[in-house]
Amino acid sequence: MSLSRMPAVFIGHGSPMNAITDNPFRRAWAALGRELPKPRAVLCISAHWETPSPRVCAVAQPETIHDFGGFPAELFAVRYPAPGSPALAQQVAALSAGTVEPDLRWGLDHGAWQVLMHLFPQADVPVAQLSLPRAYTPRQHADLARSLAPLRDEGIMVIGSGNIVHNLRLLAPGGVTPEWASDFDAAVADAIEQRDLEALADYRNFPGAAQAVPTPEHYWPLLYVMAMAAPDEPLQMFNTAYDWGSISMRSLRVG
Ligand code: ZN
Repeated sequence: MSLSRMPAVFIGHGSPMNAITDNPFRRAWAALGRELPKPRAVLCISAHWETPSPRVCAVAQPETIHDFGGFPAELFAVRYPAPGSPALAQQVAALSAGTVEPDLRWGLDHGAWQVLMHLFPQADVPVAQLSLPRAYTPRQHADLARSLAPLRDEGIMVIGSGNIVHNLRLLAPGGVTPEWASDFDAAVADAIEQRDLEALADYRNFPGAAQAVPTPEHYWPLLYVMAMAAPDEPLQMFNTAYDWGSISMRSLRVG
């Protein structure tokens, strides 16, 4: 293993309000940010950018995208002015043999900035977002991720941002975490521990999957991070708790 291999991180991002509200989840993001080595750039895979075919944001100065409604003005006022990385976008396009195309329309969506602003509060690490091709199977996502894994040896930190359990119709704020959520979360945690990418790709076989993953976009970023993990790397989970009763905030660091 290269000594300079950058960690890869999956963050359960939860509510956009985590960006501006103090809580244990985002305190853990800030603590992680203080521990992490400073990467040359970040490749961020957010649940909130789906496209027909894979794209990578290649703009030099990405806009902060407020891709939500019904939140306070304070949240719409947040700007995360990290530079983009057209060079990283070019590397991604090359490593994927042209499968991933550079994109000049996206910026940083809230799945990216609400996490990055706490990991790298100086906004001095360039960021390029990779989109989630919506028609891909879990294995196609994992294959795409694997093709990009060499970036980790080039000073690039890969950060997936989603949630392992994410069903906005079945929130349980202040209540007991429902069994379908904890069962699914526990099965995924087991597969993460075993580095069982096949089981993670076949997540629909896990108990509670239908409720836990009604749509796959918040789950997919986990596959990217796990597909880039080498078998001998240390792996640490954190934020193993629920936001709004049922949203799993389980996060992990590889390397
Ligand atoms: Zn989200």
